[in-house]
Amino acid sequence: MSDTNFDVIVVGAGPGGYVGAIRAAQLGLKTALVEANHLGGICLNWGCIPTKALLRSAEIYEHMKHAASFGLGAKDISFDIAKIVERSRGVSKQLSGGVGHLLKKNKVKVFDGYGKLLGGGKLSVEKDGKVFTTLSSKHIIMATGARAKSFPGLEPDGKQVWTYMEALVPTEVPKSMLVIGSGAIGIEFANFFHTFGSDVTVVEALDQIMPVEDSEISAFAQKSMEKRGLKFKTATKVVKLDKAADGVTATLDKNGKTETIKVDKVITAVGVVPNVENLGLDKAGVKLDERGFIQIDGYCKTSAEGVYAIGDVAGAPCLAHKASHEAIICIEKIAGQKGVHPLDKSLVPGCTYCQPQVASVGLTEKAAKDKGYKIKVGRFPFMGNGKAIALGEPEGLIKTVFDEKTGELLGAHMVGAEVTELIQGYGIAKTLETTEEDLMHTVFPHPTLSEMMHESVLDAYGKAIHF
Ligand SMILES: Cc1cc2nc3c(=O)[nH]c(=O)nc-3n(C[C@H](O)[C@H](O)[C@H](O)COP(=O)(O)OP(=O)(O)OC[C@H]3O[C@@H](n4cnc5c(N)ncnc54)[C@H](O)[C@@H]3O)c2cc1C
Repeated sequence: MSDTNFDVIVVGAGPGGYVGAIRAAQLGLKTALVEANHLGGICLNWGCIPTKALLRSAEIYEHMKHAASFGLGAKDISFDIAKIVERSRGVSKQLSGGVGHLLKKNKVKVFDGYGKLLGGGKLSVEKDGKVFTTLSSKHIIMATGARAKSFPGLEPDGKQVWTYMEALVPTEVPKSMLVIGSGAIGIEFANFFHTFGSDVTVVEALDQIMPVEDSEISAFAQKSMEKRGLKFKTATKVVKLDKAADGVTATLDKNGKTETIKVDKVITAVGVVPNVENLGLDKAGVKLDERGFIQIDGYCKTSAEGVYAIGDVAGAPCLAHKASHEAIICIEKIAGQKGVHPLDKSLVPGCTYCQPQVASVGLTEKAAKDKGYKIKVGRFPFMGNGKAIALGEPEGLIKTVFDEKTGELLGAHMVGAEVTELIQGYGIAKTLETTEEDLMHTVFPHPTLSEMMHESVLDAYGKAIHF
């Protein structure tokens, strides 16, 4: 095999691409990984990780403000936004470097350039607009990710109207801010800037914030954030942004009634669009779905023989763990491994790292009803949990949804401290197809927040002890 001929070529080194490349190499496949920017993709460099680093500073700052309630003194609390950003960038750099190390350790050949399908199992790699090599393989995996979506009239300019790219590296905290869109990205930035003093208004076109979440959890989170001073406008559209030297005036429309709001900065967080342009997809015969994402089957095969797609470019949910999971499915299927299953999207957990955190897996109460299930619902408030009180985190709710007929856990929905860590308990339960009985027989350690997961199950069957 020549230096340009590989068993597998992966295009894009995000959590889809780099995970796939490592798994391929582990299985003995000669693997190339082509990346145009940073190893680690959006997730490590401009997404999941740097946002969590920023939010950690916000969380600690918030705790410091309430130090007195823990019997502690913290005078003259202050922050330095440049240092907060520097730490976040440092965390990204460290992890991106770690990916480089892992790729080297696994003998993945990394090409620093832009990959483009040529058809017939060939891929050109360009740098500065010039092709510097052409690679070939029977298996080419497109893991090119997605970027911020924008709507006409609300286009980001990088100065007054930001996407996550600018919001991740602010040089100062804007006095006031409008966040368009209340999905995880919008809500996390709203929380971050609000904590450091920005007057933040979040506008959501649908009638609840975090529209994919259970409406009861979303309402709980909204109320809690409102108590801290965040403002929300639901069922409202931003129809116009007028920029001037001293700020941006946004025109909002709620059922035909308009109002204006003037802010220093706007963050648009209205979703993502797949990176499908200029990849040679046409040439290779790769079809897109009705939303413009690459169309794949359960094993990530596209309509073109020998071309696969994983992660954000292959459709929702646009989450890092979904990308990585698809990568493993795709590679193991290519390698002829036994027992490879298509991804069941109902088992993909979703997390929002706001304050209080929100996390869920499976069907919401409404979705379960809409699907025709007769359900049993359990609820347990953080207020009834010893550990939550000891932590000073009494605000939250854990909700479980069961199929009344079979006892199957259909969905779990949480709001409160550390729920983004807790959710995986229900994730495992759902993956193992456990019923209410299995969960009731499970022993949960005391004192932990996880006890509430038990109590919520017990509550669905009228057996909760501490509430
Ligand atoms: C602000 C923000 C916060 C987020 N937080 C979370 C979170 O907390 N949890 C979570 O699960 N998800 C989160 N996400 C989403 C997550 O980042 C994505 O789902 C994930 O990165 C998708 O992985 P991917 O491998 O499909 O693509 P990406 O991570 O987008 O990587 C694609 C890579 O392909 C490269 N590329 C593109 N075209 C080419 C080409 N032709 N040749 C070579 N290279 C190319 C790009 O440079 C990029 O590095 C967040 C996203 C954002 C923006």
